[in-house]
Formats: sequence, structure tokens, C-alpha cells
Amino acid sequence: MIDRIKTEELRVLLAEPKRVAVVSHVNPDGDALGSGLAWASVLEKEGHAVRFHVPNSCPAFLEWMAGIDRVQVYKMAPEAADAWIAEADLIFCLDFNQLNRLEELGEAILRNEKAVRILIDHHLDPPADYGLIFSDTTASSTSLIVYELIEALGWEERIDYAVAETLYVGMCTDTGNFSFGHLTPELFRTIARLVEKGVEPPRLNIAIYDNFSAERMRLMGYMLHQKMEILPEYNAACMGLDKAEQKKFHFQPGDSEGFVNLPLSIRNVSLSAFFLETKECIKVSLRSQGTVDVNELARTWFNGGGHKNASGGKFFGTMDKAIERFKEALKKPKDSL
Ligand code: 5GP
Ligand code: MN
Repeated sequence: MIDRIKTEELRVLLAEPKRVAVVSHVNPDGDALGSGLAWASVLEKEGHAVRFHVPNSCPAFLEWMAGIDRVQVYKMAPEAADAWIAEADLIFCLDFNQLNRLEELGEAILRNEKAVRILIDHHLDPPADYGLIFSDTTASSTSLIVYELIEALGWEERIDYAVAETLYVGMCTDTGNFSFGHLTPELFRTIARLVEKGVEPPRLNIAIYDNFSAERMRLMGYMLHQKMEILPEYNAACMGLDKAEQKKFHFQPGDSEGFVNLPLSIRNVSLSAFFLETKECIKVSLRSQGTVDVNELARTWFNGGGHKNASGGKFFGTMDKAIERFKEALKKPKDSL
């Protein structure tokens, strides 16, 4: 539910044409891109000058998304982004709530002390250091909150086909194609509206889920066959993908999307961890089913966070040590594990 008073505060902020930066998180996913592209497009139709920034490149499997060319990748052109952000009146932070999820882009935002920072997000524990907060931790995606906000502002006619499509991508991907998360009547009513705007779920399913490279499929087979480790005493599984393996399978950003979910298809596995070696760290992805809380695990052990059933974090050290740490975490007595 969108707060009426906050909606009116936002309406006041947007009453005159403004210079706006919309920003979303590192390794942008379908919801980060879907919510950001939709919100940027709607604000532009309302007469604002808008740029949409993300810290690093968009995953190859979402390159078909309407408006993807407008996404400003901070790593590619930091000076241009710095210049825009330094003079922005409003900075909308979408699909994350901690500025460290923006890497260097977060520092650019902190340097602009006069802009009003507005949070639109569904992650747990939003910090208070925003001028205005639209946080709904029960929402299945930020794209759903963006839709509700557009509706609360009375701007539904600004939702053209492209906006409807990008919002659908966010709602679809953050719920694992409508199979987990908070699958509420409001979500499905919203999907119905997007379908009325021309969205065709079967076509988008193919675009989102049947758009991987052959190398990625072979990599998936390799991971399941050679790398997946089952820890039956903890109803858990884990797998790690190092740099040498990435090279061997011509790894592209986004190629490991969804790998972490795969072990959850196994009977009696309700917690899954996936470790990806990157230049800076080992990126940790955690997923669970039911009452198993991976947000807590990510926070306590991997300096991260997220949602109860989907979280992530970082480990600074070798792949082996990261996996060792995960196993150590499992050993700790915990009611929820
Ligand atoms: P993924 O595993 O898909 O990268 O992330 C799953 C969830 O965990 C997402 O909701 C994401 O926002 C959150 N998450 C991933 N990495 C981090 C991190 O380093 N810090 C925090 N706070 N959240 C993260
Ligand atoms: Mn999200």
C-alpha cells in the first residue's frame, strides 16, 4: 500500500520540471532494470529531465528490454554520470536500500548534498537517511511498488506498452516467474492491467527464460554434474564458480542467473548457496524455501542482506574459504536453519 501523505509530498517535489537521477543496484537484475526504466520513462513523460544509472553492465539475457540503451553504466562513463548526478535535484534509489550496493556510484550520490534522495524499494531494514521513503518489504518486487506509485499519483495513462513490459519483467523475474514470494491478489490484478496494456506473458517468458547462450547451458550442466555439493544434514546445497571455469565456458555477465535456485528442486533441499568469483570478491547468493531465513545468514556471515528467502553478500578471500565459511555458518545452532 502506498502512503497517501508521502505520495502528496512526492507530487509537490515533482510539481515543477526537475533534473532527476534514477539509480539502481550493482549487477542489475530484471527488477532493478524494469523498475528503473519504467520510472524514468514515466517521469520523462511528466516533463522531467531524467537519466537512469546503474554501477555496472546489464546482463546479456535482458539486452532486448525496451529502453535498455538509455541505461547509463557508471563504470563505462563515470565523468558524465558524475556531472549529471552532481546537479540533480532529485535522486530516486530503486531496488536497494544501502548505498554501498551502488559501489562508486554511491559516492557520486553522497557528493550531491542538496538533492532530495527518495527510496523506492522492497528490501528489509531500510535505513532512515532518505528524504522520502516508499518501502514495502512485503512487495514481491520494486516494479510492483513503482506501479502502485504511478497509480497513486493518477498517472496510469503514462504506462505505455514499453513501460508495461519493463514492469512485467521486474514482477516476473523477482517472483521466479510467479512461483515464490508474496504472490498477492494485488500482484495478479496488476498483471491483468499490464496484459490490458498489451503485455503477452508467453512471449516475454520466451524472451526472459529461453534466451541463454549454448555455453551457458553447458556451464549449467557442468555445475550440476561436477560442482554441486549436497549437505543432507543441513537440507542444504552449494556450488562455486571460479575464474578459470568462467573462462572455459566463455562466461558473460548474467550467465549464472538462476543457478542458485537449481538445487532447491531437489527433495529435502531448502537452502542453496552459489558463489561466484569476481575481480573484487567472491559474490555470494543465497536462496531458501519456507521459514529458512537467508537474510540473517547473509548479514551475519557475508556482510550482505536482502530478503528472507533470497539474499546475497560478499566474501573477501578464496573460493574454498568462502565455501568453508558457509559450512561453518550451517553448523551454528539456529532455530531457523
Ligand atoms: P542475488 O543473489 O540475486 O545477487 O541477490 C539476491 C538478493 O540479495 C537481492 O534481493 C539483492 O538485493 C540482495 N543482495 C545481493 N547481494 C547483496 C549484498 O552484497 N548486500 C546486500 N545488502 N544485499 C545483497
Ligand atoms: Mn527487487
